[in-house]
Amino acid sequence: MTTLPTQARAIIIGGGIIGCSTAYHLAKLGWKDVVLIERNKLTSGSTWHAAGLVGQLRTSANITQLLKYSVELYDTLEQETGLATGWKRNGGLRLACNAERMTEIKRQATTAHSFGLEMHLLSPQEAQKLWPVMDISDVVGAAFLPTDGQVNPADLTQSLAKGARQGGVKIIEDVAVTGILIEKGRAVGVETSQGTIKAEVIVNCAGQWARRIGELAGVSVPLTSVQHQYLVTEPIAGVPKNLPTLRDPDRLIYFKEEVGGLVMGGYEHNPKPWQAHPLPEDFAFQLLDTDTDHFEPLMEQALARVPALSTAGIKQMINGPESFTPDGNFILGEAPELENFYVGAGFNAFGIASGGGAGRALAEWVAEGEAPMDLWPVDIRRFGQVHRDRTWVSTRTLEAYAHHYSMAWPHEELESARPVRTSPLYRRLKEQGAVFGWKLGWERPNWFAPRGVEPKDVYTYSRQNWFPHVGAEHNACRENAVVIDQTSFAKFLMVGKDAEAALSWICANDVAVRPGRLVYTQMLNERGGIECDLTVSRLDDDCYYIVTGTGFAIHDFHWIRSHIPEGLDARLIDMTSSNGVLSLMGPRARDVLSAVTEADVSNAAFPFGQHREITIAGVPVRALRVTYVGELGWELHMPLDSLASVYDALMQAGVVHGIRNAGYRAIESLRLEKFYRAWSSDITPDHSPLEAGMGWAVKLKKNIPFLGREALTRQAMKKLPKLLACFTVDDPSIVLLGRETIFRNGRQVGWLSSGGYGYTLETNIGIGYVRDKENGVTLEDVLSGSYELEIACARYPAKVSLEPLYDPKMTRIKA
Ligand SMILES: Cc1cc2nc3c(=O)[nH]c(=O)nc-3n(C[C@H](O)[C@H](O)[C@H](O)COP(=O)(O)OP(=O)(O)OC[C@H]3O[C@@H](n4cnc5c(N)ncnc54)[C@H](O)[C@@H]3O)c2cc1C
Repeated sequence: MTTLPTQARAIIIGGGIIGCSTAYHLAKLGWKDVVLIERNKLTSGSTWHAAGLVGQLRTSANITQLLKYSVELYDTLEQETGLATGWKRNGGLRLACNAERMTEIKRQATTAHSFGLEMHLLSPQEAQKLWPVMDISDVVGAAFLPTDGQVNPADLTQSLAKGARQGGVKIIEDVAVTGILIEKGRAVGVETSQGTIKAEVIVNCAGQWARRIGELAGVSVPLTSVQHQYLVTEPIAGVPKNLPTLRDPDRLIYFKEEVGGLVMGGYEHNPKPWQAHPLPEDFAFQLLDTDTDHFEPLMEQALARVPALSTAGIKQMINGPESFTPDGNFILGEAPELENFYVGAGFNAFGIASGGGAGRALAEWVAEGEAPMDLWPVDIRRFGQVHRDRTWVSTRTLEAYAHHYSMAWPHEELESARPVRTSPLYRRLKEQGAVFGWKLGWERPNWFAPRGVEPKDVYTYSRQNWFPHVGAEHNACRENAVVIDQTSFAKFLMVGKDAEAALSWICANDVAVRPGRLVYTQMLNERGGIECDLTVSRLDDDCYYIVTGTGFAIHDFHWIRSHIPEGLDARLIDMTSSNGVLSLMGPRARDVLSAVTEADVSNAAFPFGQHREITIAGVPVRALRVTYVGELGWELHMPLDSLASVYDALMQAGVVHGIRNAGYRAIESLRLEKFYRAWSSDITPDHSPLEAGMGWAVKLKKNIPFLGREALTRQAMKKLPKLLACFTVDDPSIVLLGRETIFRNGRQVGWLSSGGYGYTLETNIGIGYVRDKENGVTLEDVLSGSYELEIACARYPAKVSLEPLYDPKMTRIKA
């Protein structure tokens, strides 16, 4: 029997790399009384059998920074703890075997440059010099990341554990957590096989079992166990010790050097889940039965790449289960369902690469109670109701796994397990050619295929098939009127006699307005970073209606609810599934609306920034005068059961005004022309409203306290470290997607947070921060520079602007 403490400040469940790294970093932050509980021995879950490749490049800047930090930590850990990790920076090589893959690699190299990571393009022959045992007859090109590497996962984890122990962490093995203690909606401790421990914070790092541990606490951890196989060969002549890791996505395989031989694994298009349910609790240092038939197609690919494999002895074949998630990213952060309960799990076969950085980020999140930076791509609040369903999660996760080495096409939509949440117009829009995209379980019209055009995305790195059709929707919005089904918007009611006081504290803009007003506002964190951006409509003295983006429903609800000051009478209610939304936008929107309602919708009676209840086709509709496309328009909110009647009325009345359907891709091009910022890309918790050029939406001049005010006041006294600008590149041959590198006067100053095309301006448009942390950036600095954008490793001249590029009063180029 181990003697358990009765009390701890933090309890970490699970002694794999993530639990040990979190413990190590909490100790570094000075946390005392941290206890890590492992039901078997350290590393006995997935960690001990990982292949150990450590790559760094991801599509998000901050996640790439986390992985870069992993590499920095692995550089020094052995020295710090005295325990070897097997870490070597032997670099990572990536091959391209066709033209589109080469474009992808070039775009990845530009992304790497944007994020400060070295990545060089190589010819096939140059690649072969680094990797002499490969055949290059089908290789078009390659890229090399010199700072990538490989490590021995079990040794690395033991080294982190030693560092944690040195920092005072108590690591307890052979004790299982069997329950989570909850009091008043807070996690307050754990039950174990050997007694109870009370704690301030619980951190669930139980790998594949994190889902089960989550269930004990009523917390959804959407992951699925998938079988992942690799083989290890005997030594092969010509394999040097410093052989870089190799990823060959067109053949679905990867390699690394091991004791003079090779490790070879891959990602099949037909993955096999580990279907044990529940997962066995005594599965420790175990593997699954190997399935050579399933592995054979990968083996054939590997033989073609490395002919020497045909004569190499196979030392070992590994089939290890690992947890994967529906979007291929890991899961981090405080669970929205339960205060003080954190999760770090679902590492999609890059837990060893992520270990250092994810552990640090999770420790900082625990310590501060707030994410240390924008971690939205991995934030547990990106998941919703649909992700609670085991079958749904498994189906979507297997599709994501199968895509691991497929081309990561721009605008690609996953297809499995759909539809789940649909608007009442779903079938009607489908009949009219709607091509739907997926967001948090919802089907949303992306674009409409005209008659005779197949309603289907065809992906490529060049202009995709929908390009002209989205252009037609865009132009209809600029010239006439469109209806966009935005039923999936998240909608909340804030009610209670202190609703105004609560929202005044949480919102950066002044929401203490009279009923009938609508306010665009952001919600800031302590650092002044933008956590939410949404509209708040005051319905009554004690009631506000809040509208935010589809994907942010759980995040924003959690942010608002958890920041209502204690003791206030203010409750938040989710209305998303009750109300449908039709956005009627365009210069003829008023003509259409006035034809279907008796309400006065003239500018005098119904100005911008106001809302009214009006009647359309016998339906009570809350009309919000607001726009995200830069045209006259209304968001019409109504009971879901009446959406179809209102839609019909609008479309019928709109015939004479040239009305048509439009989708989300048109919204994107319309908003880019207006330089409207999007949360999660242009504005995030890392950016303040001042840096985003949105100081106008903050009540700094009023004497009202609000969350984030001090940070903004401090920031306003200095030169800003970065400023958001928009860019245009006239060259019609290029496609902007975001993450392209910004050069000012020949010096790298940032990257695009958004990229696309503006059909009215007939040019490529990007949005991104111009950064200079040391000297600061002024408006004059931004405007005085001469700019270029690096796109797929080539530079193009760009123009800069701090103003919207399009104004409804300007001459309509297309008119
Ligand atoms: C075949 C294979 C190859 C891989 N190759 C790579 C690679 O090359 N590079 C890379 O970066 N990643 C790779 N990975 C992924 C990597 O192994 C994982 O992402 C990583 O090990 C996950 O670590 P973890 O700490 O989240 O989970 P785990 O290592 O599984 O740790 C979770 C721990 O929680 C414990 N636990 C569970 N329930 C309880 C309980 N009730 N009470 C107490 N303790 C509990 C378990 O015993 C376990 O030790 C690979 C994975 C596989 C399967």
